[in-house]
Amino acid sequence: MLFYTDYSLETLNTFNVKAKADIFIEITSAADLEGYQRRKKYFDLPRLILGNGSNILFTKNFQGAVLKNSIKGIEVVSEDNEKAVVKAASGEDFDTFVQFCAKKRFCGIENLSAIPGTVGAAAVQNIGAYGQEASQTIQEVEYYNFETAKIETIAAKDCKFEYRGSIFKTDLAGKVFITAVTFCLSKNFTPCTEYGKLQELLKDTPIITPMIMRRVITTYRASIIPDPKEYGNAGSFFKNPVITEAAAKKILAESPELKTYPADKGKVKLAAGQLIDLCGFKGANEGKVGTAENQALIIVNLGKATGKEIHTFANKIAKAVKEKYGVKLEPEVTIV
Ligand SMILES: Cc1cc2nc3c(=O)[nH]c(=O)nc-3n(C[C@H](O)[C@H](O)[C@H](O)COP(=O)(O)OP(=O)(O)OC[C@H]3O[C@@H](n4cnc5c(N)ncnc54)[C@H](O)[C@@H]3O)c2cc1C
Repeated sequence: MLFYTDYSLETLNTFNVKAKADIFIEITSAADLEGYQRRKKYFDLPRLILGNGSNILFTKNFQGAVLKNSIKGIEVVSEDNEKAVVKAASGEDFDTFVQFCAKKRFCGIENLSAIPGTVGAAAVQNIGAYGQEASQTIQEVEYYNFETAKIETIAAKDCKFEYRGSIFKTDLAGKVFITAVTFCLSKNFTPCTEYGKLQELLKDTPIITPMIMRRVITTYRASIIPDPKEYGNAGSFFKNPVITEAAAKKILAESPELKTYPADKGKVKLAAGQLIDLCGFKGANEGKVGTAENQALIIVNLGKATGKEIHTFANKIAKAVKEKYGVKLEPEVTIV
Protein backbone atom coordinates (compact mmCIF):
# COMPACT_ATOMS: atom_id res chain seq x y z
CA MET A 1 0.00 0.00 0.00
CA LEU A 2 1.40 3.39 -1.03
CA PHE A 3 0.93 6.67 0.80
CA TYR A 4 1.21 9.83 -1.33
CA THR A 5 1.51 13.36 -0.02
CA ASP A 6 0.15 16.61 -1.48
CA TYR A 7 -1.81 14.59 -4.06
CA SER A 8 -3.88 16.25 -6.80
CA LEU A 9 -7.58 15.29 -6.87
CA GLU A 10 -8.35 17.27 -10.03
CA THR A 11 -8.90 14.22 -12.22
CA LEU A 12 -10.67 12.36 -9.42
CA ASN A 13 -13.80 14.53 -9.21
CA THR A 14 -16.39 15.04 -11.95
CA PHE A 15 -16.62 18.81 -11.31
CA ASN A 16 -12.99 18.78 -12.51
CA VAL A 17 -12.00 21.31 -9.83
CA LYS A 18 -8.51 21.70 -8.47
CA ALA A 19 -7.94 20.34 -4.97
CA LYS A 20 -5.24 18.40 -3.18
CA ALA A 21 -5.16 15.85 -0.40
CA ASP A 22 -2.48 16.05 2.30
CA ILE A 23 -2.31 12.25 2.21
CA PHE A 24 -3.70 9.97 -0.51
CA ILE A 25 -4.04 6.21 -0.10
CA GLU A 26 -5.38 3.76 -2.67
CA ILE A 27 -7.36 0.99 -0.99
CA THR A 28 -7.51 -2.27 -2.94
CA SER A 29 -8.59 -4.69 -0.19
CA ALA A 30 -9.82 -4.97 3.39
CA ALA A 31 -6.20 -5.76 4.33
CA ASP A 32 -5.24 -2.28 3.09
CA LEU A 33 -7.80 -0.81 5.49
CA GLU A 34 -6.24 -2.73 8.37
CA GLY A 35 -2.79 -1.54 7.27
CA TYR A 36 -4.03 2.07 7.16
CA GLN A 37 -5.54 1.74 10.63
CA ARG A 38 -2.23 0.44 12.01
CA ARG A 39 -0.42 3.56 10.71
CA LYS A 40 -1.52 5.75 13.60
CA LYS A 41 -0.03 8.94 12.18
CA TYR A 42 -2.32 8.64 9.14
CA PHE A 43 -5.28 7.04 10.88
CA ASP A 44 -5.55 9.92 13.36
CA LEU A 45 -5.97 12.47 10.56
CA PRO A 46 -9.41 13.54 9.27
CA ARG A 47 -10.45 11.02 6.61
CA LEU A 48 -12.45 11.15 3.41
CA ILE A 49 -13.52 8.09 1.45
CA LEU A 50 -13.49 8.74 -2.27
CA GLY A 51 -15.22 6.64 -4.90
CA ASN A 52 -15.35 8.06 -8.42
CA GLY A 53 -15.83 11.60 -7.11
CA SER A 54 -19.10 12.04 -9.01
CA ASN A 55 -21.08 13.33 -6.06
CA ILE A 56 -18.53 15.51 -4.33
CA LEU A 57 -17.52 19.17 -4.53
CA PHE A 58 -14.09 20.16 -3.26
CA THR A 59 -14.18 23.78 -2.13
CA LYS A 60 -10.69 23.53 -0.62
CA ASN A 61 -7.79 21.15 -0.21
CA PHE A 62 -8.47 18.19 2.03
CA GLN A 63 -6.35 18.44 5.15
CA GLY A 64 -6.26 14.79 6.03
CA ALA A 65 -6.17 11.38 4.36
CA VAL A 66 -8.20 10.59 1.25
CA LEU A 67 -8.89 6.85 0.92
CA LYS A 68 -9.53 6.13 -2.76
CA ASN A 69 -11.65 3.05 -3.17
CA SER A 70 -10.22 0.58 -5.71
CA ILE A 71 -11.60 -2.69 -4.29
CA LYS A 72 -12.74 -4.75 -7.29
CA GLY A 73 -14.65 -7.94 -8.06
CA ILE A 74 -18.11 -9.23 -8.93
CA GLU A 75 -19.32 -12.65 -7.81
CA VAL A 76 -22.59 -14.50 -8.42
CA VAL A 77 -23.21 -15.93 -4.95
CA SER A 78 -26.28 -18.04 -5.77
CA GLU A 79 -28.86 -18.46 -8.47
CA ASP A 80 -32.15 -20.29 -8.95
CA ASN A 81 -35.02 -19.98 -11.46
CA GLU A 82 -36.41 -16.90 -9.76
CA LYS A 83 -33.47 -14.83 -8.59
CA ALA A 84 -29.74 -14.25 -8.52
CA VAL A 85 -27.74 -13.03 -5.55
CA VAL A 86 -24.71 -11.06 -6.70
CA LYS A 87 -21.98 -9.53 -4.54
CA ALA A 88 -20.04 -6.60 -5.96
CA ALA A 89 -16.94 -5.09 -4.43
CA SER A 90 -17.51 -1.46 -3.46
CA GLY A 91 -14.88 0.00 -5.80
CA GLU A 92 -16.48 -1.55 -8.90
CA ASP A 93 -17.91 0.96 -11.31
CA PHE A 94 -21.70 0.81 -10.76
CA ASP A 95 -22.49 1.02 -14.47
CA THR A 96 -20.14 -1.91 -15.21
CA PHE A 97 -22.07 -3.84 -12.58
CA VAL A 98 -25.41 -2.90 -14.19
CA GLN A 99 -24.09 -4.12 -17.53
CA PHE A 100 -22.88 -7.40 -15.99
CA CYS A 101 -26.36 -8.00 -14.54
CA ALA A 102 -28.38 -6.83 -17.56
CA LYS A 103 -26.40 -9.16 -19.85
CA LYS A 104 -27.28 -12.11 -17.64
CA ARG A 105 -30.93 -10.95 -17.41
CA PHE A 106 -30.56 -10.32 -13.68
CA CYS A 107 -33.19 -7.60 -13.36
CA GLY A 108 -34.00 -4.65 -11.16
CA ILE A 109 -31.14 -2.20 -11.71
CA GLU A 110 -31.24 -1.71 -15.51
CA ASN A 111 -32.97 1.70 -15.12
CA LEU A 112 -29.92 2.83 -13.11
CA SER A 113 -27.78 2.54 -16.25
CA ALA A 114 -25.21 5.25 -16.94
CA ILE A 115 -25.13 6.66 -13.42
CA PRO A 116 -21.46 7.37 -12.71
CA GLY A 117 -19.86 6.22 -9.47
CA THR A 118 -18.91 3.17 -7.49
CA VAL A 119 -21.04 0.36 -6.09
CA GLY A 120 -20.21 1.43 -2.51
CA ALA A 121 -21.39 5.00 -3.00
CA ALA A 122 -24.58 3.71 -4.68
CA ALA A 123 -25.53 2.27 -1.28
CA VAL A 124 -24.45 5.41 0.62
CA GLN A 125 -26.57 7.61 -1.60
CA ASN A 126 -29.33 5.10 -2.45
CA ILE A 127 -29.01 6.22 -6.05
CA GLY A 128 -32.12 6.33 -8.14
CA ALA A 129 -33.41 7.04 -11.62
CA TYR A 130 -36.43 6.23 -13.79
CA GLY A 131 -38.42 4.54 -11.04
CA GLN A 132 -35.68 2.35 -9.58
CA GLU A 133 -33.60 2.89 -6.45
CA ALA A 134 -30.55 0.87 -5.40
CA SER A 135 -32.26 0.00 -2.08
CA GLN A 136 -34.99 -1.99 -3.90
CA THR A 137 -32.47 -4.72 -4.77
CA ILE A 138 -29.76 -4.38 -2.09
CA GLN A 139 -29.79 -7.40 0.24
CA GLU A 140 -26.91 -6.48 2.53
CA VAL A 141 -23.92 -4.18 2.79
CA GLU A 142 -20.49 -5.24 4.01
CA TYR A 143 -18.16 -2.70 5.60
CA TYR A 144 -14.93 -2.28 7.48
CA ASN A 145 -15.76 -0.73 10.83
CA PHE A 146 -13.01 1.67 11.96
CA GLU A 147 -14.29 1.45 15.55
CA THR A 148 -14.05 -2.34 15.85
CA ALA A 149 -11.34 -2.82 13.16
CA LYS A 150 -13.49 -5.65 11.74
CA ILE A 151 -15.48 -6.49 8.63
CA GLU A 152 -19.20 -6.47 9.47
CA THR A 153 -22.43 -6.75 7.50
CA ILE A 154 -25.72 -4.95 7.81
CA ALA A 155 -29.01 -6.18 6.32
CA ALA A 156 -30.78 -3.82 3.93
CA LYS A 157 -33.72 -3.47 6.33
CA ASP A 158 -31.36 -1.87 8.87
CA CYS A 159 -29.70 0.51 6.38
CA LYS A 160 -32.38 3.21 6.90
CA PHE A 161 -32.62 3.70 3.16
CA GLU A 162 -34.62 6.71 2.08
CA TYR A 163 -34.67 9.12 -0.84
CA ARG A 164 -30.94 9.76 -1.54
CA GLY A 165 -30.02 8.72 1.95
CA SER A 166 -29.03 5.85 4.21
CA ILE A 167 -27.50 5.05 7.58
CA PHE A 168 -24.09 5.59 5.93
CA LYS A 169 -24.85 9.31 5.75
CA THR A 170 -26.10 9.47 9.36
CA ASP A 171 -25.29 7.05 12.23
CA LEU A 172 -22.40 5.32 10.41
CA ALA A 173 -21.01 8.37 8.60
CA GLY A 174 -17.23 8.54 8.99
CA LYS A 175 -17.18 5.29 10.98
CA VAL A 176 -17.21 2.70 8.20
CA PHE A 177 -15.75 2.00 4.77
CA ILE A 178 -18.18 -0.01 2.63
CA THR A 179 -16.27 -2.93 1.10
CA ALA A 180 -19.03 -4.79 -0.80
CA VAL A 181 -22.73 -4.70 -1.58
CA THR A 182 -24.88 -7.79 -2.18
CA PHE A 183 -27.88 -7.45 -4.48
CA CYS A 184 -30.83 -9.82 -4.93
CA LEU A 185 -32.00 -9.54 -8.54
CA SER A 186 -35.05 -11.02 -10.19
CA LYS A 187 -34.85 -13.31 -13.20
CA ASN A 188 -38.36 -12.34 -14.26
CA PHE A 189 -38.10 -9.11 -16.18
CA THR A 190 -40.93 -6.62 -15.79
CA PRO A 191 -39.82 -3.44 -17.54
CA CYS A 192 -40.29 -0.35 -15.41
CA THR A 193 -41.41 2.21 -17.99
CA GLU A 194 -43.66 4.62 -16.10
CA TYR A 195 -41.07 7.28 -15.43
CA GLY A 196 -39.74 10.18 -17.44
CA LYS A 197 -39.96 9.74 -21.16
CA LEU A 198 -39.44 5.97 -21.10
CA GLN A 199 -42.84 5.05 -22.56
CA GLU A 200 -42.33 7.44 -25.44
CA LEU A 201 -38.76 6.26 -26.04
CA LEU A 202 -39.84 2.61 -26.06
CA LYS A 203 -43.09 2.96 -28.03
CA ASP A 204 -41.66 1.37 -31.20
CA THR A 205 -39.80 -1.39 -29.35
CA PRO A 206 -41.90 -4.60 -29.48
CA ILE A 207 -39.74 -6.64 -27.11
CA ILE A 208 -37.95 -5.00 -24.22
CA THR A 209 -35.06 -6.78 -22.54
CA PRO A 210 -32.86 -5.48 -19.70
CA MET A 211 -30.11 -4.78 -22.27
CA ILE A 212 -32.52 -2.84 -24.52
CA MET A 213 -33.75 -0.83 -21.54
CA ARG A 214 -30.13 -0.14 -20.63
CA ARG A 215 -29.28 1.00 -24.15
CA VAL A 216 -32.32 3.29 -24.41
CA ILE A 217 -31.66 4.91 -21.04
CA THR A 218 -27.92 5.30 -21.69
CA THR A 219 -28.57 7.02 -25.03
CA TYR A 220 -31.30 9.23 -23.61
CA ARG A 221 -29.22 10.29 -20.60
CA ALA A 222 -26.30 11.18 -22.89
CA SER A 223 -28.64 13.48 -24.82
CA ILE A 224 -29.88 15.40 -21.76
CA ILE A 225 -27.07 15.31 -19.16
CA PRO A 226 -23.83 17.19 -19.87
CA ASP A 227 -20.79 14.93 -20.10
CA PRO A 228 -18.63 15.76 -17.04
CA LYS A 229 -15.51 15.40 -19.20
CA GLU A 230 -16.71 18.39 -21.20
CA TYR A 231 -18.63 20.35 -18.54
CA GLY A 232 -17.77 19.28 -15.01
CA ASN A 233 -20.85 18.40 -12.98
CA ALA A 234 -22.20 15.96 -10.39
CA GLY A 235 -25.66 15.33 -11.84
CA SER A 236 -28.41 16.87 -9.71
CA PHE A 237 -26.81 19.32 -7.32
CA PHE A 238 -29.80 19.50 -4.97
CA LYS A 239 -32.26 16.92 -3.68
CA ASN A 240 -35.93 17.32 -4.52
CA PRO A 241 -37.39 18.91 -1.37
CA VAL A 242 -39.74 16.69 0.64
CA ILE A 243 -42.25 18.69 2.67
CA THR A 244 -45.36 18.05 4.77
CA GLU A 245 -48.77 17.93 3.10
CA ALA A 246 -49.82 21.08 4.99
CA ALA A 247 -46.74 22.98 3.78
CA ALA A 248 -47.40 21.77 0.22
CA LYS A 249 -51.03 22.97 0.35
CA LYS A 250 -49.86 26.41 1.46
CA ILE A 251 -47.26 26.69 -1.31
CA LEU A 252 -49.65 25.38 -3.99
CA ALA A 253 -52.31 27.93 -2.99
CA GLU A 254 -49.87 30.66 -4.02
CA SER A 255 -48.03 28.81 -6.79
CA PRO A 256 -50.43 26.27 -8.39
CA GLU A 257 -47.99 25.73 -11.27
CA LEU A 258 -45.63 23.70 -9.05
CA LYS A 259 -45.39 19.96 -9.70
CA THR A 260 -45.85 17.66 -6.70
CA TYR A 261 -45.25 13.94 -6.23
CA PRO A 262 -46.22 11.63 -3.37
CA ALA A 263 -43.32 10.84 -1.02
CA ASP A 264 -42.87 8.46 1.93
CA LYS A 265 -44.87 8.88 5.16
CA GLY A 266 -47.64 10.97 3.53
CA LYS A 267 -45.20 13.71 2.59
CA VAL A 268 -44.98 15.58 -0.71
CA LYS A 269 -42.00 15.93 -3.03
CA LEU A 270 -41.43 19.08 -5.06
CA ALA A 271 -39.29 19.19 -8.22
CA ALA A 272 -36.11 21.12 -7.33
CA GLY A 273 -35.37 21.64 -11.03
CA GLN A 274 -38.72 23.39 -11.57
CA LEU A 275 -38.23 25.63 -8.51
CA ILE A 276 -34.78 26.65 -9.80
CA ASP A 277 -36.11 27.12 -13.31
CA LEU A 278 -38.93 29.38 -12.06
CA CYS A 279 -36.35 31.49 -10.21
CA GLY A 280 -34.75 32.18 -13.59
CA PHE A 281 -31.67 30.00 -13.26
CA LYS A 282 -32.22 27.51 -16.12
CA GLY A 283 -29.24 27.91 -18.45
CA ALA A 284 -28.04 30.90 -16.38
CA ASN A 285 -24.36 31.42 -15.81
CA GLU A 286 -22.05 33.56 -13.79
CA GLY A 287 -18.53 33.63 -15.10
CA LYS A 288 -17.26 30.09 -15.21
CA VAL A 289 -20.26 28.46 -13.48
CA GLY A 290 -23.81 27.89 -14.69
CA THR A 291 -26.73 25.50 -14.85
CA ALA A 292 -27.20 23.08 -17.73
CA GLU A 293 -29.28 24.53 -20.56
CA ASN A 294 -32.11 22.03 -20.29
CA GLN A 295 -31.58 20.85 -16.69
CA ALA A 296 -31.69 23.65 -14.12
CA LEU A 297 -30.83 21.15 -11.38
CA ILE A 298 -27.41 20.39 -12.83
CA ILE A 299 -24.71 22.93 -11.96
CA VAL A 300 -21.89 22.89 -14.50
CA ASN A 301 -18.28 23.99 -14.49
CA LEU A 302 -18.09 25.95 -17.74
CA GLY A 303 -14.33 26.42 -17.64
CA LYS A 304 -11.82 26.46 -14.88
CA ALA A 305 -14.19 27.37 -12.06
CA THR A 306 -13.00 26.71 -8.53
CA GLY A 307 -15.00 24.62 -6.10
CA LYS A 308 -15.64 27.78 -4.09
CA GLU A 309 -17.13 29.56 -7.12
CA ILE A 310 -19.42 26.59 -7.79
CA HIS A 311 -20.46 26.52 -4.14
CA THR A 312 -21.19 30.27 -4.12
CA PHE A 313 -23.37 29.89 -7.22
CA ALA A 314 -25.24 26.95 -5.64
CA ASN A 315 -25.85 29.00 -2.49
CA LYS A 316 -27.22 31.82 -4.60
CA ILE A 317 -29.71 29.45 -6.24
CA ALA A 318 -30.77 28.01 -2.88
CA LYS A 319 -31.26 31.54 -1.48
CA ALA A 320 -33.44 32.57 -4.46
CA VAL A 321 -35.65 29.47 -4.06
CA LYS A 322 -35.95 30.06 -0.31
CA GLU A 323 -36.94 33.69 -0.86
CA LYS A 324 -39.48 32.96 -3.58
CA TYR A 325 -41.08 29.74 -2.26
CA GLY A 326 -39.92 29.44 1.36
CA VAL A 327 -38.47 26.01 0.50
CA LYS A 328 -35.00 24.94 1.63
CA LEU A 329 -32.91 23.18 -1.04
CA GLU A 330 -30.49 20.62 0.42
CA PRO A 331 -27.43 19.65 -1.62
CA GLU A 332 -27.37 16.07 -2.88
CA VAL A 333 -23.63 16.54 -3.41
CA THR A 334 -21.12 16.12 -0.54
CA ILE A 335 -19.45 19.50 0.02
CA VAL A 336 -15.86 19.27 1.24
C1 LIG B 1 -23.41 13.09 -14.90
C2 LIG B 1 -23.94 12.58 -13.59
C3 LIG B 1 -25.21 12.02 -13.51
C4 LIG B 1 -25.70 11.54 -12.30
N1 LIG B 1 -26.95 10.98 -12.26
C5 LIG B 1 -27.43 10.48 -11.11
C6 LIG B 1 -28.73 9.86 -11.08
O1 LIG B 1 -29.43 9.74 -12.08
N2 LIG B 1 -29.17 9.38 -9.88
C7 LIG B 1 -28.43 9.45 -8.73
O2 LIG B 1 -28.88 8.99 -7.68
N3 LIG B 1 -27.18 10.03 -8.75
C8 LIG B 1 -26.68 10.53 -9.90
N4 LIG B 1 -25.44 11.12 -9.93
C9 LIG B 1 -24.66 11.23 -8.68
C10 LIG B 1 -23.58 10.12 -8.51
O3 LIG B 1 -23.41 9.41 -9.68
C11 LIG B 1 -23.95 9.15 -7.39
O4 LIG B 1 -24.20 9.83 -6.18
C12 LIG B 1 -22.86 8.10 -7.15
O5 LIG B 1 -23.35 7.10 -6.29
C13 LIG B 1 -21.57 8.67 -6.59
O6 LIG B 1 -20.58 7.66 -6.60
P1 LIG B 1 -19.05 7.98 -6.40
O7 LIG B 1 -18.32 6.69 -6.30
O8 LIG B 1 -18.58 8.90 -7.45
O9 LIG B 1 -19.07 8.69 -4.98
P2 LIG B 1 -18.15 9.88 -4.45
O10 LIG B 1 -18.58 11.15 -5.09
O11 LIG B 1 -16.72 9.52 -4.54
O12 LIG B 1 -18.58 9.90 -2.91
C14 LIG B 1 -19.90 10.28 -2.55
C15 LIG B 1 -20.07 10.13 -1.02
O13 LIG B 1 -20.07 8.76 -0.64
C16 LIG B 1 -19.02 8.48 0.31
N5 LIG B 1 -18.47 7.16 -0.04
C17 LIG B 1 -18.02 6.80 -1.28
N6 LIG B 1 -17.60 5.51 -1.26
C18 LIG B 1 -17.79 5.07 0.02
C19 LIG B 1 -17.53 3.82 0.68
N7 LIG B 1 -17.00 2.77 0.04
N8 LIG B 1 -17.84 3.71 2.00
C20 LIG B 1 -18.37 4.77 2.68
N9 LIG B 1 -18.61 5.98 2.11
C21 LIG B 1 -18.34 6.13 0.80
C22 LIG B 1 -18.01 9.61 0.09
O14 LIG B 1 -17.22 9.82 1.24
C23 LIG B 1 -18.93 10.78 -0.24
O15 LIG B 1 -19.47 11.33 0.93
C24 LIG B 1 -24.91 11.61 -11.13
C25 LIG B 1 -23.63 12.16 -11.21
C26 LIG B 1 -23.13 12.66 -12.43
C27 LIG B 1 -21.75 13.21 -12.50
